[in-house]
Amino acid sequence: MDRRKEGAGLKAEIIAVGTELLMGETQDTNSSWVGSRFPEIGLEPQWVTIVGDDLTRLTDIVDRAWCRSDVVLTIGGLGPTLDDLTRDAIAKMFGEEITTDPSLAAWLEESFARRGTTPMPKQNLRQAGMIPSAVTVPNPLGTAPSWWIERDGKILVTMPGPPREMMNMWTTEMAPRLKARIPGQAIMSRMFKTIGLSEAAVDEMVGEVYGMDGVEMGVYAKPDGIYVRAISKAATEPLAHKTLMAAEEKIRAALGEYIWGTDEEEPPKRVGDLLKARKYTVAVMESCTGGMLGSAITDISGSSNYFVGGAITYTEASKIAAGVPAETLERFGVYSREVAGAMARAARETFGADCGVSVTGIAGGEDLTAPDGTEIKGGTVFIGVAHPNGVVVEEYRFPSRRALVRNRAVTAALLQLAQVIK
Ligand code: ATP
Ligand code: MG
Repeated sequence: MDRRKEGAGLKAEIIAVGTELLMGETQDTNSSWVGSRFPEIGLEPQWVTIVGDDLTRLTDIVDRAWCRSDVVLTIGGLGPTLDDLTRDAIAKMFGEEITTDPSLAAWLEESFARRGTTPMPKQNLRQAGMIPSAVTVPNPLGTAPSWWIERDGKILVTMPGPPREMMNMWTTEMAPRLKARIPGQAIMSRMFKTIGLSEAAVDEMVGEVYGMDGVEMGVYAKPDGIYVRAISKAATEPLAHKTLMAAEEKIRAALGEYIWGTDEEEPPKRVGDLLKARKYTVAVMESCTGGMLGSAITDISGSSNYFVGGAITYTEASKIAAGVPAETLERFGVYSREVAGAMARAARETFGADCGVSVTGIAGGEDLTAPDGTEIKGGTVFIGVAHPNGVVVEEYRFPSRRALVRNRAVTAALLQLAQVIK
C-alpha cells in the first residue's frame, strides 16, 4: 500500500547491466536497494531497466535515459573483462574517446602488486579508462572506479555491480554528492517498524498523518512486520526536521507499543546489545522456526559472547529428550503456553544459559485441536522467555502463511526477549 504522490523531485533512473541479470541467473537486488533510497535524497525513481552485456542495446538505453531523466545511474559492467561495456556505451553515446588515465593506471598497477604475485593483465587497464566529460569517484572496496558526469544540468554516474561495493559507494560517495546537487529542498525520512498488526490496520491507524502538509507516507508489509515510512520535504533542513518530528509524534501516538524500532535497527542487534550490557547468555529451543532463531542471533558478529547454543525439537520425543516434561506435553499439547514455558526453561537449564527462548506454534495454515478440545488456529505461535527471575510466555497470531509465520515468530521471539531483559 503506497499512497505517495508523484512529486517535483528530480527524475532519476537506474540501468542494471549484465546478461546474467537479464537471464535471471542473478537477481537484480541492486536496483531496488538503490531505488528505495532515492526519495530520501530528493530523487524520484522513474524507470529501472535491465540490459544485457551488449554494446548496441546498452548505448541505446543510456541514450534514452540521458534524454528523459535528470539523473541516470548505471550499475555493473565496470569490470576489466571485454563484456564489461558500460564505459564504452557511455563514451559512444557522448561521442567521446576513452583514453587511459595515467594516475588511475598507476593506482591499479600498485593495488594489483600489493594483492597479487602475478603482473596485472593488460586488460585491467580498461578500468583506468576515462572520457573528457567524466571525473572519477574512487571505489575503496574494489578496483573499478566510478564515473561522475555532469553536463547540461544532468548527472550520469556509474556504480560497480558487486552489491557490497555498490552499497558502500552509494552511502559514502554518491548519495551525499547527489543530495548536494538537489536544489532548494531538504528531505528527511524515518522508517517505523511494527509487529503484531496487519498492514490494513497500520494504514488505518496512521490515517491522520497522510493528510499532513509536506509529509509522504508509505506502509509496507515486510517478512518481520509492517513498516511505515514517513518522508518530509521542506525548503530547509530545520523545517524538514520539524515536519518529520511532528509526523513522528502522530505516528507514535497512533501505533504506540507496536513500534519496536526505527530505520536500520534490527532485532538481533538489539538483543545482542542488551545481552552484552546485562552480561547474560542465551540458549534457544525451537520447534516451528526450525533453527531460524539461532541463525538470526548468530547473524551478529561477536554473538559467541552471549549465544550458548540451542536445540531444534520438532517432535514430542525430541522435546522430551531435550528436557521438556512428558506430562506437560500430554496434558496441554505441544501448542500451548505451558509447553512454550517448559521449553524455555529446558533451554536455559540444558545449556546452562542465563536466558532460554522457545518457539512452538503452527507454521502452516491448518487448524488443530488441543487436548482440552479447544481449536488452535494456523499461525498461532507461543513464545517463552525464561530468565533468572521467571518465565514469560506470550501467544501470537500471525497471518497463516508458512514463511510469514516463521519470520514473524523469529522477530517476535527476539523482541520478547529484549522486552524481558531491557
Ligand atoms: P567486476 O569488477 O566484479 O566485474 P562490475 O562493476 O563489472 O564488477 P558486474 O560484472 O556487472 O560488475 O557484476 C559483478 C557481480 O556483481 C555479478 O557477478 C553479480 O553477482 C553482482 N551484480 C551485478 N549487478 C547486480 C545487481 N543489479 N544486483 C545484484 N547483484 C549484481
Ligand atoms: Mg564484471
